Amino acid sequence: MNPFSYTRAYGLDTAVEEKVDGANFVAGGTNLIDLMKENVTRPQHLIDINHLPLQEIEETESGGLRMGALMRNADTAYHPLVEQRYPLLAKAILAGASPQLRNMATDGGNLMQRTRCYYFYDTATPCNKREPGSGCSAINGFNRIHAILGHSESCIATHPSDMCVALAALDATVHVKSKRGERSIPFLEFHRLPGDTPHLDNTLQADELITAIELPAKGFADHYTYVKIRDRQSYAFALVSVAAALELDGTTITDVRLALGGVAHKPWRDMQAENLLKGKQATRENFQQVAESILANAQGFGHNTFKIELAKRAIVRALLEATQNEHKS
Ligand SMILES: Cc1cc2nc3c(=O)[nH]c(=O)nc-3n(C[C@H](O)[C@H](O)[C@H](O)COP(=O)(O)OP(=O)(O)OC[C@H]3O[C@@H](n4cnc5c(N)ncnc54)[C@H](O)[C@@H]3O)c2cc1C
Ligand code: SF4
Repeated sequence: MNPFSYTRAYGLDTAVEEKVDGANFVAGGTNLIDLMKENVTRPQHLIDINHLPLQEIEETESGGLRMGALMRNADTAYHPLVEQRYPLLAKAILAGASPQLRNMATDGGNLMQRTRCYYFYDTATPCNKREPGSGCSAINGFNRIHAILGHSESCIATHPSDMCVALAALDATVHVKSKRGERSIPFLEFHRLPGDTPHLDNTLQADELITAIELPAKGFADHYTYVKIRDRQSYAFALVSVAAALELDGTTITDVRLALGGVAHKPWRDMQAENLLKGKQATRENFQQVAESILANAQGFGHNTFKIELAKRAIVRALLEATQNEHKS
């Protein structure tokens, strides 16, 4: 039993004042409480942020949306402005977890959720993410759900979120606040690759609170899809997922976004590979070429090597679906 204290914050300033070493914010609690029950995380103090005024979606002057960090995943996915203008985001959110979890989980918490690596949850095994310097049990262990891109000798874990894959494709921005002030983090710089510091999942500083996630005006609402491949049809994390969004002039690709989930420590974007498609025809051959390029440096660890071919096929399938499904916004 690890004793901890609990307070409820009603204002942003109070919330960040209380965020000292050993303290954790709790939002929906769908990940943090599990981690506490498993003894993986042992906060001394919990700051309940559910009453902070961060539960609205607002239109921005630049034509985008600003989503408060405490929006529930379900409320975000079913919000009319998200459904209309960012259906890729809605589709990715609804591919995740279960209705009950999505009703509870918040958007800020979704960004911060931790890996589903089995060894990370098993405190009887070494894990560099849980206990820096102890080793990685997955590299030579059972690594079916692990990374094939961007991994290091220290950690081969993946980021488990679906929502974040769409946010990466849409070039979102994360707004954060601390006692030191406010700042904005481009989404692609929010999550990290493991390197030799896999205990750090992201670039949020220990004293910072996520206040909002901002979407730029461009939502790719006409040609998009989110393909999620998993062991069960529902209520399972992605083995591989792909968020694909296209802008087409006839059959010519004028803009493209492609982000992968389930393959790396962060949602994976490869701009060089995306550029290969700009100005090209939307054909299976061109999609196959981009898939080969994205996976060119992929490396599996035995149990997860199947993901390399799976990811290529998922990319081609997603791009074909995005081309063929015309949703008139
Ligand atoms: C059985 C199960 C299945 C799931 N399946 C999927 C799935 O298929 N796809 C998917 O994407 N997700 C899935 N999830 C994960 C779920 O989406 C996350 O648990 C959820 O999004 C976390 O949000 P929360 O508000 O509950 O976070 P909490 O558990 O409250 O917090 C998680 C972490 O975020 C921090 N935090 C929360 N809000 C803020 C903030 N505003 N600023 C700074 N830090 C903050 C907390 O301190 C904590 O460290 C699943 C979860 C479960 C339990
Ligand atoms: S892959 Fe990462 S999270 Fe999993 S055991 Fe290795 S160090 Fe820990």
